[in-house]
Amino acid sequence: MSTVPTIDLNNGTAIPQLGFGVYQVPPKDTKEATLTALEVGYRHIDTAEMYGNEKGVGEAVRESGLDRGDVFVTSKLNNGFHAHDDALTAFDGTLEALGFDYVDLFLIHWPLPGIEVDFVETWRALEEIYRDGRARAIGVSNFQANHLRRLIQETEVVPAVNQIEVHPYLTNDDVRAVNAEHGVATEAWSPIAQGLVLDDPVVTGIANAHERTPAQVVLRWHVQRGDIVFPKSVTRSRVEENFALFDFELSDSDMGLITALDKDHRTGPDPDTFNWIP
Ligand code: NAD
Repeated sequence: MSTVPTIDLNNGTAIPQLGFGVYQVPPKDTKEATLTALEVGYRHIDTAEMYGNEKGVGEAVRESGLDRGDVFVTSKLNNGFHAHDDALTAFDGTLEALGFDYVDLFLIHWPLPGIEVDFVETWRALEEIYRDGRARAIGVSNFQANHLRRLIQETEVVPAVNQIEVHPYLTNDDVRAVNAEHGVATEAWSPIAQGLVLDDPVVTGIANAHERTPAQVVLRWHVQRGDIVFPKSVTRSRVEENFALFDFELSDSDMGLITALDKDHRTGPDPDTFNWIP
């Protein structure tokens, strides 16, 4: 089994650089899928209230026989709960669904810059959760450079991570640079663009040269860029494939060719205009 490196977040909390994402895993299948990932060796799970499957993640962690402290679990505050008291109540709901008394990382899922409640107010609620020890670290997701800068200027705790869309068709290097400038770790969501980048001839060419799969090459590219990734799959062979990233290396030239595929292509919503509330 390959060993997954950890990254020290800005408050000293260590996070495994490779995890397992459960977006779009149906709630009824989430326990099984997460148990498979834990069996394969993943020790970091990324869920969210919005995914409706926190319960299955919690059940899998308990049934795995692992200590709670051996699995890093992230969840996220759903849109619609940005007001201070709503955020605290929603967080209680997350802990209840997971069946945990703390999460490792809790994120504001989207900045929602067009709604009435300012994300600075939301962040103050997360700061309280953090100070109470109910989240070992707190962070944000889908924050653009201006959102992140304002949050850092106006509040106390610097986010530990900013989880943003990153893959070869959207390298998102501007936001990654601002994250780095402030000591905020970048988490890359949809790291293989939900499969979109796997047929790219540059990716398949590099994969053939290394006798690896396109998914492994793209995930390895993220790892070498220093980002945290958590690909999603419910197929055991792919869960295993996506975990085998630490026994080969891409050259600088491979890295450059993949980075040059950037075409500013989002697979998900634009955080500047996304204000959807379920
Ligand atoms: P992904 O890039 O991980 O792609 C997942 C899809 O790719 C799977 O459904 C499967 O069809 C395919 N796939 C997976 N492994 C493969 C392999 N080895 N070979 C071929 N195909 C393969 O996309 P994702 O699930 O959107 O993103 C990963 C995680 O990021 C999510 O599960 C979630 O935890 C997180 N995420 C966060 C946000 C956010 O707003 N914060 C948004 C989207 C995703």
